[in-house]
Parts: sequence; C-alpha cells; structure tokens
Amino acid sequence: MAQASHGDGASKRAGDCFERRTTSATRVKRSETTDLSGPWDVLVLGGGNAGLCAAIAARQNGASVLVLECAPRDFRGGNSRHTRNLRTVHERADGILTGPYLEDEFWDDLWRVTGGKTNEALARLTIRSSADFSEWMPRHGVRFQPPLGGTLHLGRTNAFFLGGGKALVNAYYRAAEALGAKVAYGAEVMDLDIHDGVFSAAVVSFRGAIQRVQARVVVAASGGFEANIPWLKESWGEAAENFIVRGTPYNQGRVLRALLNRGAKQVGDARQCHAVAVDGRAPKFDGGIVTRVDCVPFGIVVNQNGERFYDEGEDFWPKRYAIWGRLVAQQPGQIGHVIIDSKPLGRFMPTVFPPVVAGSIRELAVALRLDPQAVEATVKSHWAVTIDRPPFHGYSLRPGITFTYLGVGVDDRARILMADGGPSANLFAAGEIMAGNILGQGYLAGLGMTIGTVFGRIAGREAAMLAARRSIAARKVAS
Ligand SMILES: Cc1cc2nc3c(=O)[nH]c(=O)nc-3n(C[C@H](O)[C@H](O)[C@H](O)COP(=O)(O)OP(=O)(O)OC[C@H]3O[C@@H](n4cnc5c(N)ncnc54)[C@H](O)[C@@H]3O)c2cc1C
Repeated sequence: MAQASHGDGASKRAGDCFERRTTSATRVKRSETTDLSGPWDVLVLGGGNAGLCAAIAARQNGASVLVLECAPRDFRGGNSRHTRNLRTVHERADGILTGPYLEDEFWDDLWRVTGGKTNEALARLTIRSSADFSEWMPRHGVRFQPPLGGTLHLGRTNAFFLGGGKALVNAYYRAAEALGAKVAYGAEVMDLDIHDGVFSAAVVSFRGAIQRVQARVVVAASGGFEANIPWLKESWGEAAENFIVRGTPYNQGRVLRALLNRGAKQVGDARQCHAVAVDGRAPKFDGGIVTRVDCVPFGIVVNQNGERFYDEGEDFWPKRYAIWGRLVAQQPGQIGHVIIDSKPLGRFMPTVFPPVVAGSIRELAVALRLDPQAVEATVKSHWAVTIDRPPFHGYSLRPGITFTYLGVGVDDRARILMADGGPSANLFAAGEIMAGNILGQGYLAGLGMTIGTVFGRIAGREAAMLAARRSIAARKVAS
C-alpha cells in the first residue's frame, strides 16, 4: 500500500471544521490539564469510549494516565457520543433487555454478517467479556433505559444508554478524572516515536506548539480514518468526495497511519466500512443518527437514471440498513432517491428533514430532478410493494460513512502486533482502530461499542501492569 499520502492531506473540509471548533472553544475548563510533561505510565490516544475505558482500567491498576484528545472539550467523545446502544451476551431478560442472548447465538449472528471474515478467538473473547457490562458500566456512571422498539428491533440483544452516547461519554470522563486520570483537549497526536516496535513518545500538537510526550506504554484509541476524505479517496476514488461523514471530523487516522508506517501489522480492507444511506441534505460531518433514512424497505430506491439497483426488501431491515451506504456509493454521482407512497407513513423512524411530496410519481420525479418517464416505468415494474396511493414522498440519499475497518492487528491482550506477527513491546489498541480484527466486513448493530468497551478495559489493565513492570526494571537498572 502506498503510505506517504495517508493522513498527510487530511480532508480540507474536515480541516476547516477542525480549525473552527478549535478556535471557538479554546478556554480551559476545570478538569483539563495543560501540563503534558511526562513520563506517564500510560498515554491514551483518543478520548472516546475505548480510550476512556482504557483510562479507567489503567488508573484502577495503579498507573498514572494522560488522555490526549484532539477535539476541544465541547466536542470530546468522538463517534461514541453519537451512539445509542451496545450489544451484550446475557442469560435472561431484565429491565433493560427483553430476553436471553447467549454466546452461540451472538457468535452465529457475527459470523453471518461478516461472512466468516472475523478472528474467532478475538470475537468470542469480545462476546464473553460483554457479560459483565450491566454491572461494570453503571459502576462508572452509565445508566441504561428500558428496551426500545422502533426500526431496528434491538430490545432483546442491545442495551440502550439513557441520554445516549453523550451521557455515556460524560459519565466516563467524570469517572476517569475522579480516579485521577488527566485529560488534555485540543491535543492532536501527529506522529509516534517507535523504534523496533518500542514506543517512547507521542509527537503532539498542543496550544500552537509541537511537544514530545513520553510514556512507558501507549494505548491507541483514536478511531478510524472515516473523516479523512483524501485517504478514503485512495480506495473509493473521487466518489469519496460525495460521502457524508456521520460522526466526528476528528477521526483522521493520524495515529493509525503512524502505527502502520512504524511497522504495525495491518488488518482489514480499506474499502470495508460501516455506511448507511443518509439524507442528502445532511451536514458533511457530525450529523449523527437523525440523518439516517429508514423507509427504504417500504418503497423503491432509484439512481439518477431512474433505475432500481438493489432489492429493497431483501431481508429484515435491521439486517440490511448498513449495506445501503455502500450501495448508494456505487451509483453514478453517489446519489440515490427513495420513493414511497402514503401507506407506510408512520411505520419508520421519522426523518429530520421533510420529504419531497408530490401528487403523482411524475411530479415527484421532476421535483427530485429525475427523468419522469424512467421513474414511472420503474415504479410500474415494481411488483413487490405497490406504490399507488398519493401523495408520494421522496428523499435523496447519500452514502453516510460511520466508521472504517482497516486497522492494526492485536492479540487477546490488546497488544498491537507487528508486521512479523509478534507482539509489540509496549503498544496497545482498542476500539475502531482495531475493530477490523473482528469486523472483516458487514456489521452487527451495537458491536462497535462492545468491541471498544471490551478491548479498552483489557488494554488499560494490561498497559498499567506493563508500565509497572517497566518502572521496576528501570529502577533496577538505575540502582
Ligand atoms: C452516528 C453514529 C451512530 C453510531 N451508533 C452506534 C451505536 O448505537 N452502537 C455502537 O456500538 N456503535 C455505534 N456507532 C459506532 C461507534 O461510534 C464506534 O464504533 C465507537 O464509538 C468507537 O469508539 P472509539 O473510542 O474507538 O472511537 P471514537 O469514539 O470515535 O473516539 C476516538 C477519539 O479519538 C480522538 N482522536 C482522533 N484522532 C486523534 C489524534 N490524532 N490525536 C488525539 N485524539 C485523536 C477523537 O477526537 C475521538 O474523540 C455509531 C457511530 C456513528 C457515527
């Protein structure tokens, strides 16, 4: 893979957004630290779900911890602040989940969506380790809400956070800081000093200066590269210009790139990602969950030639919603248009933007800037669901990228593997940056947060234990 350009030319639009947010939120809040000078036992790169779980676990195992978060405080929490739920293995219904979900069923679901492209040992570790979430997460301030109905039908398998991901992230920041972890906002890791698989310092842009922050051990939890349009273009071509980034603009993949450049093992395919169809009017970044359009199975989706390109009712929507981003991405101009009639109104998640409404298919096609004859012919040939009761509704769709799967290889202790397959000396990873070990393709709703919670905790614990050993060894050498 060509390496030089990755991450260097971070998306201009992402960059603009980054600039704006950084300058508009430079005031120092109570809990921030401005003193990055180490050496720290454990340096956590990224303050989303995975990084915060790592910070909490590392502090609980006695390490001094600094979290470097490149967003300003108001935008902390990466993609995790957009989430709603996570998937857990559990034996019985409780007030939060409506029935049992055992390891074998969880594993079967994961195996099916990935088409077997998953590391079974790590996947099963993830599944089993999710068994204590209902106890561990509330202990650190997360609250769950009663099961939700709605389009994705996840009440049995997924626990929903009261207040959503934003409340979860706030709770974990509070917990980590109460335990003594330090957090620096607006601290962007630009590169890593790694020689022969040994980490010594992170090169950090902070308050207008570049600093080298030293630590005994590092945990990389800085997400994927989904907000880096130039990097996406390397595998998607110009089509990536038309992608909407559903989450944070800060996940530019700089840490991932540094790790791969310094010899970490790459897992996953650069084109594999989670991507849904979002309203074409969604903002370029950070639109979150409300921009998703869920009426696809009730109608038809046509491209700009007015032609259908996939079976909208192929399967139950919860198993298919995550393929529509990629399907739209493969269409001319990366645009699709979903058309429904009035019958399914009220049967899907309400949309944040109003639909285009018309009294006839012809008028709707014109309003959507499509060839009316082509669209009329397509609607007539669609026999599965009749689209015949006016008024007709339409939404233009864009590919909405959620997160990328290309990442670094890890073992069951969350140690980053080097290209030769052996573990690195003092590098750990958790969350999106290593999710590709488990998600070779496809997606199972709620798994992103499950992977981050499991591997964040493992990475934090292992990193703290290693830091303690390295500290003792260093003292012996010194004496
Ligand atoms: C709209 C939306 C809805 C979602 N809903 C769900 C859901 O309900 N359930 C689920 O399981 N998953 C969901 N996901 C996926 C989920 O958000 C991710 O899998 C998960 O949050 C990843 O956690 P993370 O800690 O690895 O990354 P993030 O939460 O993205 O955290 C990474 C952090 O690293 C920081 N960072 C990045 N680069 C640098 C750098 N160079 N230096 C310093 N800091 C850096 C970022 O600012 C960010 O805070 C959703 C995603 C989106 C976008």
